[in-house]
Amino acid sequence: MTGADPDYDVVVLGGGSGGYACALRSAQLGLRVALVERDRLGGTCLHRGCIPTKALLHAAEVADTARDGARFGVHSTVESIDLAAVLGYQQGVVAQLHKGLQGLVSAASIDYVEGTGRVLSATEVRVGDRVLRGRTLVLATGSTAASLPGLDLGGRVVGSDQALTLTQLPESVVVLGGGVIGVEFASIFRSFGAAVTIIEALPRLVSGEDEAISAQLERAFRKRGITARTGTRFAGATQDETSVTVTLEDGGTLAADLLLVAVGRRPVTAELGFETAGVTLDRGYVVTDERLRAAPGVYAVGDIVPGLQLAHRGFAHGIFVAEEVAGLAPQPVHDRGIPRVTYCDPEIASVGLTESQAREQLGEVRTYSYNLAGNGKSKILGTQGFVKLVGMIDGPVVGVHMIGARMGEQIGEAALIVGWEATPDDVAPLLHAHPTQNEALGEAHLALAGKPLHAHG
Ligand SMILES: Cc1cc2nc3c(=O)[nH]c(=O)nc-3n(C[C@H](O)[C@H](O)[C@H](O)COP(=O)(O)OP(=O)(O)OC[C@H]3O[C@@H](n4cnc5c(N)ncnc54)[C@H](O)[C@@H]3O)c2cc1C
Repeated sequence: MTGADPDYDVVVLGGGSGGYACALRSAQLGLRVALVERDRLGGTCLHRGCIPTKALLHAAEVADTARDGARFGVHSTVESIDLAAVLGYQQGVVAQLHKGLQGLVSAASIDYVEGTGRVLSATEVRVGDRVLRGRTLVLATGSTAASLPGLDLGGRVVGSDQALTLTQLPESVVVLGGGVIGVEFASIFRSFGAAVTIIEALPRLVSGEDEAISAQLERAFRKRGITARTGTRFAGATQDETSVTVTLEDGGTLAADLLLVAVGRRPVTAELGFETAGVTLDRGYVVTDERLRAAPGVYAVGDIVPGLQLAHRGFAHGIFVAEEVAGLAPQPVHDRGIPRVTYCDPEIASVGLTESQAREQLGEVRTYSYNLAGNGKSKILGTQGFVKLVGMIDGPVVGVHMIGARMGEQIGEAALIVGWEATPDDVAPLLHAHPTQNEALGEAHLALAGKPLHAHG
């Protein structure tokens, strides 16, 4: 390096979804990039989040399919769940994707720097005895599992990271928190044969979703034998060699083999020197403007930016910042158009405003719920649920909310409809292949456009 000339155009701190997407797009645009990662390239999503949990959910689905085979005339039973083999399969998926990602980063000629980075200024990051200098600094240090005051993880009290590496399947589990991560793990443990109780302080599960979705999920979970104790506050937990006992604020107690704490994620921003770069933190999150600028020459992406903590939001942030730095003036990423999928059984998929948000923000709206009972493919699968549309009066669809087995796969079209501000009349003439669950989305729009086909009532 010579004089004031920086080594890099972009130094990215953190190699998770947000950070590596930013590094790859920056390199594509001809920028010189350093990517600093202290653990494994791919971050939470690849190693402790999206991919390993969805592999477990797939194994869980296989178990349920085998258990329920007789329903379809195929007599089968689940002999046992070989947890070591399940984890072997899961780790195999992760390892292949990890290798692929490493290949992408090395082919892009990104300078991949292993180690813990500490910000020294808006243009400098120290990693070990190296100081990386960049014109632009991108903070992408992600998030970690949160707990409650006085509730330490250890032994029979685990967070999502430890739940992915259990050596023995519990026979009973209390899941603390009925948000996305809580209900996904509840679903996995139930499919693997455990008795599962969810404790949620709020009045409903998945409280970020439309109320009708929460109600349907609670019904479906009840049928599956998962107990959801909503409106119930946790008071404390004690453990010994054989069990963990959870005390509730109402005085009740629950004993189980395992307590899974799934009460949210907190940003990883403490003591990394962010303030020295002029960055402001608010409850640990990095304060940015809508162009993700945290300070002059400093950007933040992914879970450290307040809002939805989702991998594809991180990818979009990373790409946005790379293009911004390259001077392409990209469109900002708004949380309102981000699709959300919860992969429990039944799956939940949604995008845009819930009915109550739409009424609050837009006034009068119209809604339509298409029951999957009228959808051939859903009947074949034996699943129940619905597609609910929230639309403006004589205007676009502003929210799509779906629940039912495999409905996550329908989110792409729903995101296009909401993102392109399509009206039911725009969607109604589009053909949806028969028999697919995708037809339910088409039928819902036909009905909202005033020309229902396979819709009752
Ligand atoms: C159990 C679980 C399931 C999930 N499932 C889904 C899902 O199905 N779909 C979905 O969209 N999202 C899911 N998520 C959320 C998703 O994983 C995150 O939104 C996403 O990983 C955020 O990306 P990120 O780049 O902001 O942070 P991270 O992926 O957390 O990456 C941050 C990286 O920065 C590194 N780092 C931190 N500090 C430093 C430092 N000082 N120096 C060097 N490196 C550092 C960390 O090691 C880490 O690799 C799930 C999360 C969990 C926990």
